[in-house]
Amino acid sequence: MTQPASPLLPLYGLSRSEADAWMDAHDFSRDHAALLWRYLYWECAETWEDMTKMPAKVLRVLAAETALDAAPVARETHSSDGFTRKYLLSLADHKVIETVLMRFKGRVTACISSQAGCAMGCVFCATGQRGFERHLSTAEIVAQAVHVQRILRRGLKSDDGRPIAEAEDRLRNVVLMGMGEPLHNFDAVMKAVDIMLDSAGLSLSPDRITLSTVGVVPGILRLAEEHPPRVHLAVSLHGATQAERAALVPVAKKWPLDELMAACRTYNEKTGRRIFYEWTLIEGSNDTPEHARALGRLLSSVERSLAPAARRNRRPLSQVNLIPLNPTPGFSGAPTRTAAAGIFQAILAEEFGLPSTVRQRRGIDIAAGCGQLAALN
Ligand code: SAH
Ligand code: SF4
Repeated sequence: MTQPASPLLPLYGLSRSEADAWMDAHDFSRDHAALLWRYLYWECAETWEDMTKMPAKVLRVLAAETALDAAPVARETHSSDGFTRKYLLSLADHKVIETVLMRFKGRVTACISSQAGCAMGCVFCATGQRGFERHLSTAEIVAQAVHVQRILRRGLKSDDGRPIAEAEDRLRNVVLMGMGEPLHNFDAVMKAVDIMLDSAGLSLSPDRITLSTVGVVPGILRLAEEHPPRVHLAVSLHGATQAERAALVPVAKKWPLDELMAACRTYNEKTGRRIFYEWTLIEGSNDTPEHARALGRLLSSVERSLAPAARRNRRPLSQVNLIPLNPTPGFSGAPTRTAAAGIFQAILAEEFGLPSTVRQRRGIDIAAGCGQLAALN
């Protein structure tokens, strides 16, 4: 299932070479493709009229044959601490998705969605509880990043309208951690990543894009084949044994833990890159010292099995991101308390030499935290 057919060509779905080809096909100069990309990704034009330097004859055909905005904003909510903003975007077929802008000091990150809903059904995740609606198109994915770019290019402002001077003036950080499973929509997501990386457009650095997967083994293996990789990889684990993981993440039955860890090892070896392992901390469920040790043993066994060449700089190629559970309508667990999270981290570090971070809980009051996106409020 993808987006419904439209007679108009969505501009945010075009690679730079496809934009050139479009100009060629219409006997327009390729210089106009360069100008178009400047309007799309730097000026962030909202209407054809904003493209003041585009020749009228080109604009006429663009307006007749192509579509500018693939995901207009229907609603915007701000967290009370001012650090998180959530945008509800309405697609052409009236499906709704969410994009989150997160600010930490001056650094701004766009958390973008890859699907409307999600088919993976993780029990603690509001997107999974909503079920799968459809894949997003490349244009719908890129449009979310452009939306945040537009806000930053216009200058981020606080709720009372004052400029936030320290905020970055263009988009530099993207996480594919919004609604949906990005590796379940592999081709559209990877094309979107290529467009976001293009130096003529948003010009993101591959070091500043992180893709989070529930553990779609064939997708991880496809990423491992890429040299150099286009994104950082995060893998959601949540359990260190097959039975414990499958109780939280139903697709573990399709891609069992041993196959997943073998794919992660292949990724480490082929790319030399680190993997971030995400672990939603649920009180009493997967947060005891024994769980920390099981995770430590699992990741250490991957580290030990790596060929020496993959560990050139001797840093572990595994890092753990602990995410205290955020509330969702369909799951009744509680988040791990700070002290227990600290013990979990200390075990990983002291007994296994594994670095970890505990993710800051932000945007919970507007349901914009990890796993809370369901486009319900
Ligand atoms: N589908 C991808 C990316 C989107 S979810 C994936 O699952 O990795 C982004 C992260 O939020 C994942 O690590 C996911 O496990 C986590 N998450 C989901 N629901 C959560 C919740 N209620 N509280 C905390 N983290 C949650
Ligand atoms: Fe889908 Fe990720 Fe939510 Fe699981 S955690 S249901 S894979 S969005």
